[in-house]
Amino acid sequence: MRNNFYTFIYSLFLMASSFAIPSKAQEISEDDLRTHIKILASDEFEGREPGTKGGIKTVHYLAKQWFDAGYVGGAKDGSFYQSVPLVKRLPQSHIVTYNKNNFTREIGNSEIALIGKDAAEKFSSSTIFGGYGIKDDGSAIDNVRGKAVFILGGNPPFIEGEAASVNVRSDKLAQAGAAAVIIILSEDSDWRRFSRFLTARPVSLQSSDSGIRINGLASFDYGKSLTKVANMSWKKMLKSAENGKFNGIDLALISNWNVQTSIRKYDSYNVIAKLPGSKPDAGSVFFTGHWDHFGYCRPKGEKDRICNGAIDNASGMSVLIEVAKHLGKKKFDRDIYFVGTTAEEDGLLGAYHMVDNPPVNIKKIAIALNVDTIAIAPKGAKVAIIGRGTTDLDPIIEKIAKGLGRDIESSTDANAFIRRQDGWALASKGVPALMVGGSFSDLDLLSKFLSSDYHGVSDDYSEDTELGGAAEDAVLHLRLAEHFANLNTYSGIKGSE
Ligand SMILES: [Zn+2]
Repeated sequence: MRNNFYTFIYSLFLMASSFAIPSKAQEISEDDLRTHIKILASDEFEGREPGTKGGIKTVHYLAKQWFDAGYVGGAKDGSFYQSVPLVKRLPQSHIVTYNKNNFTREIGNSEIALIGKDAAEKFSSSTIFGGYGIKDDGSAIDNVRGKAVFILGGNPPFIEGEAASVNVRSDKLAQAGAAAVIIILSEDSDWRRFSRFLTARPVSLQSSDSGIRINGLASFDYGKSLTKVANMSWKKMLKSAENGKFNGIDLALISNWNVQTSIRKYDSYNVIAKLPGSKPDAGSVFFTGHWDHFGYCRPKGEKDRICNGAIDNASGMSVLIEVAKHLGKKKFDRDIYFVGTTAEEDGLLGAYHMVDNPPVNIKKIAIALNVDTIAIAPKGAKVAIIGRGTTDLDPIIEKIAKGLGRDIESSTDANAFIRRQDGWALASKGVPALMVGGSFSDLDLLSKFLSSDYHGVSDDYSEDTELGGAAEDAVLHLRLAEHFANLNTYSGIKGSE
């Protein structure tokens, strides 16, 4: 306890500050935002990597800020923390051999890269050349259960859109029971460059693990050599793969797999805070922003090793803290949620986990607003909407923005970023999920950041960090929340019946 004298001095200080006349323009100021960015992007937070001390520090910081602002835990168990089980896999070593009749052949292990589901994957199986892995109706080729399937990486000529993507094709083969799926790169893909793609996203949700025991990449030449070992024509095989009825060829080779993978399973956390509304049946207003970044991102011995992520996304979280504080002083009809998501940088993983395990009925979310990379634009920037045209909310948002004296960017250029932010995880489940603000209206300014400090050690906080636009956007988010959280200003939620 403090002694009485200091308590007295302290209460005088409180009185003095409550007599200060708040300036209207300073509802949320640049300085308010600076306080949190400075802390979240400090070296003490070690770049906020999920599964590290810095990550834990970050989630506690957010929970404390929202708790102090009058919020309750919004996770299903009533706490502020929703566990997000993650797994990080990195290749260690591998040996693959093939048996043809009674001979064992090796193609060489340098142009094939493999990752196991478990730390040690060791088995033998039939070997299939699967063409593109699917047929023209989008279904997996037949007879892949328990087998190793080599598929082509490029675009199948007989199918378009999402179904053509190599991820969807691999998923189809996983569902059909393939034991190993190896993607053969196209002829013009440089092996040394593209083999890194296998480890570019080493973290995934534990819940997304499929039955595939080995995932891999192989060079075009490896594919060629493989068919040679099988005494078959690579050219002919490539030709038949072009046909949408192609159903795979058994290469009559037994493949012997021995793959060692370093695996770390761990929990990270989405921080979920709730401001209970007076009419919770009316649904909710959602704010999301990712708290995570890349942690120690440079090798030992380098001078600056920490990717502090000041703009990406300490800036967004600081806006969400300040907006929450202001809303916490008022009462609303709908529940208001603030969610700090984890593992966005690994592919929106925390957000995907949240929509698969939602703390609310996601059909009753009136609007979800994601805040990411908000410290870009100066004061006076136009307001852009990522997701423009995907909901019927654009006119409402524009009216509110204009009411604050903001100009509107009416093009849909910002939609180029729609899949690169957490809102996409919600939008893909039918939630009206948008990003609104200035940092995506001046795309030249944004590209300047994306081609310099972005995802590097220089995304640091400094006194020069531009927060003029962020402070204006924070106020805009206040007004949006007030509008969408009350039934007299916004009654309708599409599809809520
Ligand atoms: Zn990022």
